[in-house]
Amino acid sequence: MNWRALVYGLCGTLLFAGCYTVPAEEGPAKTAVKRSFTVPKVDTRVVEPGKIVATDHFVMRFEDGLETFRGYETVESRENLARGKLLQMEAQYAFLKDALDMTIHEPVGVIVVPGEQAVLGRTAEAHASARTVRMADGSTVLQSQVVFTPSALADNGTLAHELTHALQYNCIGIRAPAWFAEGLAMMVQTEFAGYGVTTPRATVLGPDDEGFNLIQQWRAHGTEQQPWPPDLERDGYRHGYHIVLTLRNRYGDPFYHRLFKLLSPKTDGDWGDEMNDSRFVAVMSAAAGESLVPYFRDVLRFHLTDAETRTNAPDVGDIPSLR
Ligand SMILES: [Zn+2]
Repeated sequence: MNWRALVYGLCGTLLFAGCYTVPAEEGPAKTAVKRSFTVPKVDTRVVEPGKIVATDHFVMRFEDGLETFRGYETVESRENLARGKLLQMEAQYAFLKDALDMTIHEPVGVIVVPGEQAVLGRTAEAHASARTVRMADGSTVLQSQVVFTPSALADNGTLAHELTHALQYNCIGIRAPAWFAEGLAMMVQTEFAGYGVTTPRATVLGPDDEGFNLIQQWRAHGTEQQPWPPDLERDGYRHGYHIVLTLRNRYGDPFYHRLFKLLSPKTDGDWGDEMNDSRFVAVMSAAAGESLVPYFRDVLRFHLTDAETRTNAPDVGDIPSLR
């Protein structure tokens, strides 16, 4: 792996520019799926003194202009900070690999910047994104990265949230709808990593003019959509979280193991497009081993195209059944 190609790579196509973290709200602690995990034994190495530090799965780069921030003053202090954060990220990866079977294909870039960046017409303290990059041998890989200001990097909830996005891109590309991506990030931020507390919101987010769940139109951070009212924006994250958590409570870890296998690229460069909800429910049904159409259509008030949920059911191949 060419580290500089990753952290300086400009040759790719930006597929998706990601999330703006919502602050966790105060509320009762959830313990249902919370687990402890330990920091794995991993080597960190300095690639460029005071500038780039890497592990096998992450490459952290400090941009110029950070020297005025506390803890970033010297080459040594930046390298020490990088080692601590890289170990924290490796621990979260080890945890997600176990719980959700997320597997990193390409090292994730972690960029620390001195100030908020403009992304998709807004400024953000932290965001995750992915891009395709053509390698020297002609193959195409998907590289994901997370960008943090020093204060965002210091917030463990934000770190866990954005890292979940980056790892998800790395595993399955950009296939998942926004409500799933944000729900998963909220679940990891709140319950797996144990940083910040957000309460899942069970009730339908809407309805829209036709009686369907508004969350299907929620983009979380898309460009085309007008900004949503703050309450609705916050509830989008919480409702996505509720759906992701419900499926996990009903089917357990194996549901996500199977889902990520089914969503993984089958051929080189097969990073796909974002699936519509009908196709995504078809894949989730295959992961669950039973149809999830009644749950999404009748309980969550999703608009689904029956023909699509039938014809897009994936071949589960040799993936073990849940039953
Ligand atoms: Zn997010």
